[in-house]
Amino acid sequence: MTTMVKVDDLVKHYGEGEDRITALDGVSFELEKATITAIVGPSGSGKSTLARCINSLVKPTSGRISIAGADPATQTVEKRRTIGTIFQGSSLQRRRTAQRNVMLPLEFAGWKKADAQARANELLALVGLDGRGAAYPGELSGGQKQRVGIARALALLPSVLLADEATTGLDHANRASVLQLLRDLRAELGLTIILITHEMDAAREIADDVLLLADGRIVERGAIRDLVLQDSKVRGNLFPARPHLVATDRHNYRIHYARQNVPLDWVARLSQRLPEPLQVLGATIEELKGEAVGYMIVANTAGPEELARAADGFGLQIHELEAVDA
Ligand code: ADP
Repeated sequence: MTTMVKVDDLVKHYGEGEDRITALDGVSFELEKATITAIVGPSGSGKSTLARCINSLVKPTSGRISIAGADPATQTVEKRRTIGTIFQGSSLQRRRTAQRNVMLPLEFAGWKKADAQARANELLALVGLDGRGAAYPGELSGGQKQRVGIARALALLPSVLLADEATTGLDHANRASVLQLLRDLRAELGLTIILITHEMDAAREIADDVLLLADGRIVERGAIRDLVLQDSKVRGNLFPARPHLVATDRHNYRIHYARQNVPLDWVARLSQRLPEPLQVLGATIEELKGEAVGYMIVANTAGPEELARAADGFGLQIHELEAVDA
């Protein structure tokens, strides 16, 4: 087994003094070659920060990252081929054709135009867009655009592909085709793929392993199959709509909230007012007419009245859920 990604005690703070937010609080993990790992977690748990540290868009406060044995932050543009990133909505340049979008990293790396064109065409064929190089992003479907984004991410032959919410916003068919492509690329190129996603379906469909982040820490890690069979937090995340809540001495709640109306760190703040921290069993957040609205399934020893008192002023809607016997 070859370790392709090594993240060691990564910490990231934003801001200073009283305003300091700890987005990553000592994250460590290793990923083997040719594996697909989903990094999941509720909104605000640190997923984007982790993604941006891994692809060197954000400098960690402390800790180390090594990709294929090298620190990605110290690589020059020409050599920077250890990691490629696919972004949400593909982020293509509208005025460039598909081919010229894929050529962009090659141009930055100093490739000759003819070589870059040839390589871009090969990459477009690899992602199933043979002959579409002359199309502009506006002429392509969401899934096709995302394929161009994948071809661009692969331009400098990375060994690791980071997909940052890459299927978010795609319809079901496009999402399925992009996920299938990622699976094929792993098989054909031996790529190590990191999927950062709040969409549990994507994780369920292709990931070998899931890392669950909560409040900047990895709270659970394992094969989806194993975690789903256990009474794990990931199971709660995978099936947030109909959680199978096993009867315990805790109460289970579904807490709805609109992100604009609640403090960012409401889970941590509410936890401080309770006899024990809120145990997050599942979460989902959706964009509804521009507003981020979500819910969390949580467990706590506090009864409904105690929780309502503690949550007073937070702008949350709390419903108690019935547990079922296992
Ligand atoms: P996720 O991607 O899981 O939603 P993020 O990494 O975006 O999580 O956020 C983790 C925490 O860091 C949140 O509390 C968020 O508000 C905070 N945060 C993220 N980016 C910034 C930033 N640029 N400045 C200040 N705080 C930030």
